[in-house]
Amino acid sequence: MRAMEWIDRLNRDGTLPDGALLELISARHGLSGTEREYLYLLARKKSTAVFGHDIYLRGLIEFTNHCRNNCRYCGIRRDNGALHRYRLTDAEILSCTDEGYALGLRTFVLQGGEDAYDTDGRICRIVSEIRKRHPDCAVTLSIGEKSRESYRRYFEAGAERYLLRHETADAGHYSYLHPEEMSMEHRMNCLYELKEIGFQIGAGFMVGSPGQTDACYVKDFRFLQELGPHMIGIGPFVPHHATPFADCAAGTLEDTLFFLALLRLYFPKALIPATTALGTIHPRGRELGVLAGANVIMPNLSPGAVRKDYLLYDGKICVDDEAGQCRDCIGSRMHSIGYRTVAARGDYPGFFGKPDGLPAGENPESETGKRCMVSEQQEEIN
Ligand code: SAH
Repeated sequence: MRAMEWIDRLNRDGTLPDGALLELISARHGLSGTEREYLYLLARKKSTAVFGHDIYLRGLIEFTNHCRNNCRYCGIRRDNGALHRYRLTDAEILSCTDEGYALGLRTFVLQGGEDAYDTDGRICRIVSEIRKRHPDCAVTLSIGEKSRESYRRYFEAGAERYLLRHETADAGHYSYLHPEEMSMEHRMNCLYELKEIGFQIGAGFMVGSPGQTDACYVKDFRFLQELGPHMIGIGPFVPHHATPFADCAAGTLEDTLFFLALLRLYFPKALIPATTALGTIHPRGRELGVLAGANVIMPNLSPGAVRKDYLLYDGKICVDDEAGQCRDCIGSRMHSIGYRTVAARGDYPGFFGKPDGLPAGENPESETGKRCMVSEQQEEIN
């Protein structure tokens, strides 16, 4: 079967021509169980060649569910009037990071809706306070589309990574998923700006979202190749009852694992999470994600009282757990498949902006070669 030839070629070359990629993607439903396993095996070998059996953890702090946007798939969209809105105080966010630190987490991801309350001043204050308390930790922001100037301020305050899924690289599909005032060009432009400023950037898309075609996925891969992100987050679309897509079908486990494996073959060094959404559609979704090439998991550090209000989609897992339970549960899940969670920052291999705790631009020793050596030593110690 041609699909198997394309898989071998992708494994060998790290890329496929558009036509071949489309053929492979379109053939995915016809793959046998053995053929799928073969694909996952190749992807996992690529991953272990770079990362071994180490799984990096990112402590997720969902610090506000206020949002000015109205994305049609998202449960915290502006028009969801039934949702109880919350935002955590600076002190609450810091206590989440302190708790996470004690649990061995060395990256904190601050994620939220696009909340007008989050002035640059507030974000910078929180970021620099976290860096001050925990200088050996990385801070990742995931707060949507901002101006270049704001991104630059966050970076100077000590945020080193930014997650902003592009959602889809097909313009028609993008406008089907989003309200008129949002544009794909603007979102993509944000990603390029973030990269230029010096952030490690994360892009990504949902799998099985309404209106998505096989050709859309081909465009996603092309865009990702052009952008060169350090992190790539994908997960199944899962419907939320209070959105226009309430009655749409969720993305499937098989499709998500298929695209995870393809991503790993395309981007051997990328940090790719097995997402909470994947864990939501299947009880062992995250384990299977790791076995298909993912190497990151994001335990939830948000306070118990607000977790159920950060509901992007229905059925989200871990809403009743405590931070420690999430972390332990993930540790034993990874152990059960022969992997181990590590207390390390887990930067993109070769990307070492701040060995001395300064932003890359301010690092007097910021020649790339030197920085690499310092960080490789750090990794060995960890
Ligand atoms: N406001 C931030 C964070 C968005 S939430 C931003 O704009 O980047 C993080 C991700 O959750 C989104 O990028 C989207 O891909 C995903 N998401 C939102 N609704 C979802 C749903 N119904 N099913 C699956 N994933 C969803």
